[in-house]
Amino acid sequence: MTKPLNVLFVSSEVEPFAKTGGLADVAGALPQTLKELGHEVRVIMPRYGSINERKSHLHEMLRLKEIDIPVGKKKYPASVKSSFITSNHAKVQVYFLDSPALFGRAGLYVSPETKKDYADNDERFIFFCRGTLEILKKLGWEPDIIHCNDWHTGLIPAYLKTLYANDPFYRDTRTVFTIHNMAYQGIFPPASFAKTLLPPETFSGDGVEAFGQLNLLKAGLMYADVITTVSERYAVEISTSKELGCGLQDVVARRKKDLSGILNGADYTQWDPGVDQLIPNRYDIRSLDLKIENKRALCAKMNLPFDEKVPLVGIISRLADQKGFDLIGEAMETLMGMDLQMVVLGTGEKRYHDLFEKAARKHPKKLAVALTFNNELAHLIEAGSDIFLMPSRYEPCGLNQIYSLRYGTIPVVRATGGLDDTIQDAGASGNGTGFRFEEYSSGEMVKALQRAVRMFADQGAWKKLMKNGMGKDFSWEASAKKYLHLYRSLAKH
Ligand code: ADP
Repeated sequence: MTKPLNVLFVSSEVEPFAKTGGLADVAGALPQTLKELGHEVRVIMPRYGSINERKSHLHEMLRLKEIDIPVGKKKYPASVKSSFITSNHAKVQVYFLDSPALFGRAGLYVSPETKKDYADNDERFIFFCRGTLEILKKLGWEPDIIHCNDWHTGLIPAYLKTLYANDPFYRDTRTVFTIHNMAYQGIFPPASFAKTLLPPETFSGDGVEAFGQLNLLKAGLMYADVITTVSERYAVEISTSKELGCGLQDVVARRKKDLSGILNGADYTQWDPGVDQLIPNRYDIRSLDLKIENKRALCAKMNLPFDEKVPLVGIISRLADQKGFDLIGEAMETLMGMDLQMVVLGTGEKRYHDLFEKAARKHPKKLAVALTFNNELAHLIEAGSDIFLMPSRYEPCGLNQIYSLRYGTIPVVRATGGLDDTIQDAGASGNGTGFRFEEYSSGEMVKALQRAVRMFADQGAWKKLMKNGMGKDFSWEASAKKYLHLYRSLAKH
């Protein structure tokens, strides 16, 4: 019997405590699956002001002032609270690292008032990385693997290879760095480098510097023992394309032999219409006809006229460039002229808020929008829509198309990254699960939607498509085993 591994999963967002996107879903689900597979997995995240102490059952572990974390010339007192993720049978311990001056505010990265990044995001995440390494020592829990995610955690591998290189506590610790999105790099002016307290020579092309700036994603890419990203296609894209590598494609390419793509899974304890507690009418592959009742409820909620014969297209997304909203903007009047209705749930860039608000005012019977973050409504849209639209410019993995498959909500996607890896076109064979388009253009997107609308009119063919998707299994277990395999290849025992 091989020994179970100690794995620390480090993430700036974790469902159900704090979420802006798919990273939180991954951080809430993968650790539980790893634990079910027999390993000791713990999670650490910042303790944001928005996390309610009572609702989240936080318990104090290390008090404020017991430990100071150096950030440049300053020292921030750290405290640690603890709670558990319990959405399925594996209970995973979560540490919340806090220093109220840095994290005692509502937003994760962006101020809800000014809509701008917090000016001290450098200090916040330098503290988070350094603090994570310090408090593990204080808690006396030695991880075999520290699994870091995205730029917020990029300094951890850098610290382990420099400041902690001779620390016996971390002698056997290895790091995995997972890229959930190359476009967010944690870029700060060169003056921020001094705050990291890394050795001066690391501010170079072989270290944490890129294009003259401090780049925390690059820190992870350079110093982690292995790198993963969240789909196979995206792994290729970020190492070969300037656009998708976002300037760091050569850095990724240099580490090609240490890079792999592991697709995200879906947490079917949360995202399955057979058990979903947030939808009015549960259904599964054997009771497809009940899905329509969710459509009725969704239309009622969003003030859209209900018509069984008109396909309802759902969108749930951060309103960011990445997600293809410029295509929707270009095609808006064409879409509104088609025989369909649309519901949009999202929040993000102001110009897209304006776009959808304006179009919804003009076409109140065809388009309804909720420009906010609302998990319950996200579940109702998955259950109540007929079609799910994801015309992304790029998509590292994408979770909503995977959830849509399980809800019998047919994805219409641009064939990029994880969308390419997870959706087969209905036109290509009888085993299709959705509609894909290749070229990033509004014309191609409209054509794909037209094909979907045409097939919707043939309910026999449509039901077959729904069943194809509902029968797919994207549960976490297969992906968790791939991560374990990687951990094993690194671990010292
Ligand atoms: P990304 O991580 O790029 O935002 P993903 O498709 O991987 O995209 O994951 C998005 C996750 O965030 C899904 O769980 C989706 O339901 C959720 N989500 C995005 N926007 C909203 C919103 N406005 N309200 C509720 N949930 C949202």
